[in-house]
Amino acid sequence: MSISFLEQGVQRVQGIKGRRVDVLADAGVRTIRDLLHYYPRRYLDRSSIVPIRALRGDMSSVTVVGEVILADTVRGRTGQRFELIAQDESGQVMKCVWFKGAQWIRGRFSKGDRVAFHGKPQRYGGMFSMAHPDFDKLDAESRTLDTGRIIALYPGGAALTGVGLTSRAFRHIIHDFLTQHGEEIPESFPSDICEAAQLMDGPAALRAIHFPEDRDELEAAQRRLKFEELFSVQIMLAQLRRRRIVHAGPRFEAPGALMRKFLQDGLPFELTGAQQSALKDIARDMRSGKQMRRLLQGDVGSGKTVVAVAAMLHALDSGYQSAFMAPTEILAEQHYANLRKYLDPLDVRIRLLVGGLPKAEREKILADIAEGEASIAVGTHALIQEDVTFRRLGLAIVDEQHRFGVMQRARMFEMGARPHMLLMTATPIPRSLAMTLYGDLDVSIMKEMPAGRRPVRTALRYDKSREQVYAFVRGEIEKGRQCYIVYPLVEESEKMDLKDAESGHAELKKIFAPHKVGLIHGRMSRGEKEDTMTLFHRADFKVLVATTVIEVGVDVSNATIMIVEHAERFGLSQLHQLRGRVGRGGEQSYCILMADYKCTHEARERLQVMVDTNDGFRISEADLKIRGAGDFFGTRQSGLPELKIAELPGDVELLTEARDLAFGLVKRDPDLKESGHAALREHLHAVYGDQGMGLSRVG
Ligand code: ADP
Ligand code: MG
Repeated sequence: MSISFLEQGVQRVQGIKGRRVDVLADAGVRTIRDLLHYYPRRYLDRSSIVPIRALRGDMSSVTVVGEVILADTVRGRTGQRFELIAQDESGQVMKCVWFKGAQWIRGRFSKGDRVAFHGKPQRYGGMFSMAHPDFDKLDAESRTLDTGRIIALYPGGAALTGVGLTSRAFRHIIHDFLTQHGEEIPESFPSDICEAAQLMDGPAALRAIHFPEDRDELEAAQRRLKFEELFSVQIMLAQLRRRRIVHAGPRFEAPGALMRKFLQDGLPFELTGAQQSALKDIARDMRSGKQMRRLLQGDVGSGKTVVAVAAMLHALDSGYQSAFMAPTEILAEQHYANLRKYLDPLDVRIRLLVGGLPKAEREKILADIAEGEASIAVGTHALIQEDVTFRRLGLAIVDEQHRFGVMQRARMFEMGARPHMLLMTATPIPRSLAMTLYGDLDVSIMKEMPAGRRPVRTALRYDKSREQVYAFVRGEIEKGRQCYIVYPLVEESEKMDLKDAESGHAELKKIFAPHKVGLIHGRMSRGEKEDTMTLFHRADFKVLVATTVIEVGVDVSNATIMIVEHAERFGLSQLHQLRGRVGRGGEQSYCILMADYKCTHEARERLQVMVDTNDGFRISEADLKIRGAGDFFGTRQSGLPELKIAELPGDVELLTEARDLAFGLVKRDPDLKESGHAALREHLHAVYGDQGMGLSRVG
C-alpha cells in the first residue's frame, strides 16, 4: 500500500460521515493521515490520578476522577455559574466551577457520572475546587482503568462533542481502523535514520500513541513522532539553506556620500558598537553579489531604526530604491515622520504607502515609486499589493517581522529582482530556537543599548493603590512628562474591550483635568489616529489611553510612564514590548502593571518576572517556558509548520539530533532522489506540500 492511501479523505473511515466530516475538517483533520496523527492530548492511568484526599494548593495541573453527586447552576453577583460536586474513592469531595458557558456545561453532566477532571486545585473554604477544569466522562472506561491500562484522551470542545466525537468515540474509530488497516501503514523514514536515532518504527508508533501498552511504549512512540516532526522541518530548512546560496543579489558599491553624511552629521548621537557591527554585517552582505537574508535582532529600544536608515542610504548610494514595511499604520507613519526628519536635509525623497488612501493620491505615490521618483517607500502591507512596482528595488526591510505572516514576507522579497532583505525583530529568540526557526537566515544580534539609558522601573499594583498611582502620574506630568495607559484587546470580544478603553478614557479625563487625555484604538480612522499621535508627540495630550495598537515601535521619548491595565491578561513578550515604549530618553521611566487582585498565583509569578528584569532575553525565555514554543512561535509568527507533538524548548535535544541527521541527509542527497528516500519525500510532500513551497520562497 502506498502513502497515498493515507491521503484519502477521512470519510473513508468507518464511523465518520455527515457532519462529523465538517467538524473534523475544522479541527484540521481531513485525511486518514490527519486522523492517525490526531494525537491524544492526555493519557489517563492509575498512576496519573490524584485522590482528592491528597490534593495540595501548590500543585499545578492534576487529574481527579470522581462521581458527580451534585450539579447545578448558581446565581451569583457576577452572573450565572455552574457548580458541581464530585466525590472520589477516597470519600472526599471537590467542587468544580464554570463561570462561563454555564448553560452548555449544564447539559454535559448528570448525577452519577464518572468523570476525569483536569485542572489546578485551589483551596477555598474547607474544600478544594477547580475553575473551568478540562473534563472527560468515563463511565465504561473506569473499569479499564482498574486493570492498569492507559487510556488516551483527545482534544475536545463543543463542536466535536456536539457530533458525538468524544474521546471514547475517537478511540473506537481509530481502534477499528487500525485493526482493519494497521498492516497497510507504510514506514516513511529511511532505515539508516531510524537506526541512527534509535527510533521505534512508524506504524508501531502510530498504534502505540493511541493505544499504549504501558508508559515505556508510550514514551518510545512519542519520541518517534516528535522526531518525525522535527526532522521533517529540519529537512526543509536544510534544503532551503542549500538553495539560498545560489541566489544572486544586486551588488552594491562601498557606502557612499549619503550614508557617510548621515552617520557623520545627521545623528544627534554616536552609534553604539552593536549598531556599527550590525551595519558592517549588512554592508558586507550587500556588496557580496549574493542576496542578503539577515535577521537583525535587538531588544526594544536598541536602535534598529537607525541601522535600517543607514542601510537604505547605502542602497541609494549604489543607485537602488528601498522598501521599509511596518506591521501597523501608526508605526509606518512614525517611521515616515522620522525618516523625513533625518533625510529631508539630504534631499532623499520618501513616500508613505498605506491602505485607504484617496485614489488619486495613491496613484501618484505608485507612479513615483514605479518611476524612481521616490528613493524610499515606507508603508504597511499596502507595499506588497499587486500593483506596486519599483523601478529599481535593491533592499527590502521588514520591521517587527514576527508580526507578519510568512506569505507577506515572501511577497516582499519577490518584488523586483530579488532585493536584499533585512528582517528586524525585538523578539529575542533563544539560540537553540533561532537555529530551528531561522536556520536559513544570517543573524546580527545587538546586545548593547544606547548609552545613558536608565533601566525602566517596574512595579506591580492592584486596584487598591489606584489613587496613589494616579497621584504619581499627576506629579510626573507636572514635571513635564507624559504617560501611556494601555487596555488589553482580546480579539473575541473586541467591542467589550473597546468599551473598557473608552470608559477608562472618560474617567481619566476627569481625573487628570486640566491636563488633556487622548484616546487611540484600532477602530479609529487613519486620520483620527494620525491626529491623536501628533497631539501626543507635541505633548498637547499628557496622557494617552490606548488599546494595544501602540504595542510595537512607537517612539515618544518624553513619555516616561507606561501603565498597563489588566496586566495579567497580557503575555510577557507583549508586556516587554509595551514597557519598551518608555525609557527612551534620559529621564527615569516607570512601568506600572495593574493587575486584578483576584488573579491567579501563576499570573502574579509571571508578572513578577517583569518586575525582576528588563532583559528581553530572559523575559522571552520565561515566556517560552510558560507558553510553549507552539504558541510563542505560532505558524503565523514564525512561518514554520506548527508543531503538533514536539515541544520547544523541552525537546531541544531531540531537535539537535534531528537537525544533525537531517542536514547530513540533505548533504548526501539534496533532493531526496535516492530510492531509499522516496517514501520520505512523499511523506514531506504530503504533510507540508504547499507550506513547504511557501517556506522555500521566504528563504
Ligand atoms: P528599536 O530597536 O526598538 O526599534 P528605535 O530604533 O525606535 O529602537 O530606537 C529607540 C530610540 O533610541 C530612538 O529614539 C532613537 O533615536 C534612539 N537611539 C538609537 N540609536 C541611538 C544611539 N546610538 N544613541 C542614543 N540614542 C539612540
Ligand atoms: Mg523599532
